[in-house]
Amino acid sequence: MLVSRRQFLATSGQLAVMAGLGSQLGLLSACSAGSSVPWDGLAKSLRGRLIRAGDPGYENAALPNNVRYAKVLPAGIARCTDAADVRTAIRWARENGVELVARAGGHSYGGYSATRGLMIDVNGMTNVEADAAAGTVRVVGGARNSDLAAALRPLDVTVSAGRCPDVGAAGLTLGGGFGFSARKLGLTIDALVETEMVTASGEILTCSAVENPDLFWACRGGGGGNFGINTSFTFRTAAASDVAVFRCSWDHVDAAALLDVFQRVLATAPDEFSMRLGFDAPADPKDGIKLEAIGQYFGPSANLADLLAPVFAVAAPTTREVHDVTYWQGRDLLADNEGPSAFIERSQFVPGLIGSDGLAVFADRLRSHPATVAASSAGAKIFSWGGAIGHVAPAATAFVHRDALALFSVGVNWAVDERPSAVRGLVDWVDRFWQEMAPHTSSRSYQNFIDPALTDWQHAYYGDNFERLVNVKRTVDPDNIFHFAQSIPTRI
Ligand SMILES: Cc1cc2nc3c(=O)[nH]c(=O)nc-3n(C[C@H](O)[C@H](O)[C@H](O)COP(=O)(O)OP(=O)(O)OC[C@H]3O[C@@H](n4cnc5c(N)ncnc54)[C@H](O)[C@@H]3O)c2cc1C
Repeated sequence: MLVSRRQFLATSGQLAVMAGLGSQLGLLSACSAGSSVPWDGLAKSLRGRLIRAGDPGYENAALPNNVRYAKVLPAGIARCTDAADVRTAIRWARENGVELVARAGGHSYGGYSATRGLMIDVNGMTNVEADAAAGTVRVVGGARNSDLAAALRPLDVTVSAGRCPDVGAAGLTLGGGFGFSARKLGLTIDALVETEMVTASGEILTCSAVENPDLFWACRGGGGGNFGINTSFTFRTAAASDVAVFRCSWDHVDAAALLDVFQRVLATAPDEFSMRLGFDAPADPKDGIKLEAIGQYFGPSANLADLLAPVFAVAAPTTREVHDVTYWQGRDLLADNEGPSAFIERSQFVPGLIGSDGLAVFADRLRSHPATVAASSAGAKIFSWGGAIGHVAPAATAFVHRDALALFSVGVNWAVDERPSAVRGLVDWVDRFWQEMAPHTSSRSYQNFIDPALTDWQHAYYGDNFERLVNVKRTVDPDNIFHFAQSIPTRI
């Protein structure tokens, strides 16, 4: 069984709950709020709560999912209740020269929803209203994947989304959003019909194909935190039809052979099929490489078994589960709620079949775990792409990565109190793996796996759509109020 982030934390015994985590990191004194800033004025004008260091709930609200960035703590957290509150917070921050950032689910890989200024936190806004007659669902800005699922399940309709229940619908949607239904139903953004956004000037705009269409275009793949704060998303729903799901594992795998057969299955599979491969690099070479493959098929398990037969012919799995289930049972079986940890994950889109040289690099790097840290997890993943994702033109939305076969990622996790030199060994392993795979994949990366180490991120995330995104940014946020290390700039 592969070690997921959540399992890693549980087994390492480092972090049982968020509250404990904050104390362990000694965070509560790390925040230095400017004493001349009129925080009381903000507290009085918000309908929601202003939370400051030392207040109940500060620790939980401040900490990001990637605790690598846990020392970047906000001077204040505006827990907004509605779009008017978001507007109040933005205007207050601007008037007082305080840096601001939006936080929804807090799962930014790069810690880009952390700030030392004002965190505008939409987490209290979780309402989800499904309209069965209209075939739509309206999700407010702080809802998580789990809130969306809970509202849709009773109606037996769905929206293509990720498998981690705690990820924010806002961040997921703004950067694209894929999950096990994406090859059949498209990305999360492909179901978006309208979004409400509070801009840097405090305007509350509706964005759709007919209202503010340029901004609507940018909100579909332009990435979170760039243009304003989105306070609702309305999606078109699709029928949640029955699926077969699988979960198989292999020990001591020939990684090149298994990746090759899986990629060939994927290349010819119908849109109904999706998969995610998780290869686990062994810290001790004697343990061998492990693989866990999970996935979904819209249809009966007999068809799924036919699709997977070439894989099983290459290597018999150690464990093999295939279930015919309802869509929602399938979602439960595939869900993984990875709790907070310190991690790095870097990605590359795979345009077509990886050749034998690339497969050899992939297997070789997996066998070269640095083993500088005993309690760590390190590995590489392959997520299926293609299908309905590619039915939309690359320029039709800001999301340019439409024609890939798969998404490759390599990552490591470690305990928060790990020695920096040991962490360096893990990070170097990721970087080398990523660099050596690049000639065999592409220079494109997934903006929702946002990667602070990327230098040419403008091209990697946005390709030919970057220039249009800059033009939208200049129009909606000319003073660059919404900015972070990899935000869309106001000029090229
Ligand atoms: C455990 C885990 C599982 C994941 N699984 C998937 C998956 O299955 N599929 C997938 O596609 N991605 C997945 N991701 C990536 C995920 O989509 C991105 O990390 C996403 O940006 C997280 O959104 P968030 O709201 O949780 O994070 P946040 O950190 O709150 O926000 C992410 C970015 O969006 C900005 N932002 C937040 N709220 C708003 C808002 N209301 N308006 C405008 N900007 C805002 C933030 O400032 C930040 O820059 C996963 C990530 C993790 C850590």
